[in-house]
Amino acid sequence: MTKLIFLGVGNGATLNLYNTCFVIQTNKENFLIDTGGSIEIINRLKKVNIEFQKIKHIFISHTHTDHILGLIWMIKRLYKPITNNELTDKINIYCNDEVYEGLKNLIKILLPDELMDVVYDWLEFKELKDKDRYTINGIEYEFFDIKAHGNKQYGFEFKENGKRFVFLGDQTINSDLFPRVKGADYVTHEVFCLEQERKKFLIKASGHSTVKDTSETMNDLNVKNLILYHTGEAQGKDRKRIYTEEGKEYFKGNIIVPDELEEIEL
Ligand SMILES: [Zn+2]
Repeated sequence: MTKLIFLGVGNGATLNLYNTCFVIQTNKENFLIDTGGSIEIINRLKKVNIEFQKIKHIFISHTHTDHILGLIWMIKRLYKPITNNELTDKINIYCNDEVYEGLKNLIKILLPDELMDVVYDWLEFKELKDKDRYTINGIEYEFFDIKAHGNKQYGFEFKENGKRFVFLGDQTINSDLFPRVKGADYVTHEVFCLEQERKKFLIKASGHSTVKDTSETMNDLNVKNLILYHTGEAQGKDRKRIYTEEGKEYFKGNIIVPDELEEIEL
């Protein structure tokens, strides 16, 4: 059985929602997708009964603070379990070359040499190229360049139980990816805000989308289940309901707006 566990669902500007990141859990093995922007990642994992040091596979989609900085805290916190002989396997970090360079620089600037002398040996960087494939926890993933404007960003897809799942990172889908996404069973796509908030957040310039934008596009592409994340937080407790309602106006399949710590079985 494979399920998604959402640790954070907020965009890069939220204070009360943690930044978007989640775990793909297959038979109790975990694959962490992005890490949010702070030490809160360790707390979130604990809340869903995952010890951060036991995660063997981590994917970082791009270099933005709300996706990459949580990993720096995880690396910092690895010193103790390593010196306590609690680790048995290396931790695989899958990322494109730009993220790899960024991580190396951040580690050099932000973490002490004495700490990294111990921790570096336990990190296995897998530098991804477009369409690279890896089997992780028994599932074959294909990673791909989402052709974002600005920083290089990767997504991935996999098949499980005959269903096709596509992760599209945190930007408005590039039309070059339409053939890949067409007819997919599950697609994750960012929605920065509602349609009525479009002007307030200068949506076009930001490379992000509203719920309406995404729902229309994914409806045209015959996607079956649309997972909307990377949202704003102005709606408070009504976020899920209000985002779902707007999505349903333009998308005839199943709309899923996960709450934090919500689990979705695939
Ligand atoms: Zn983001």
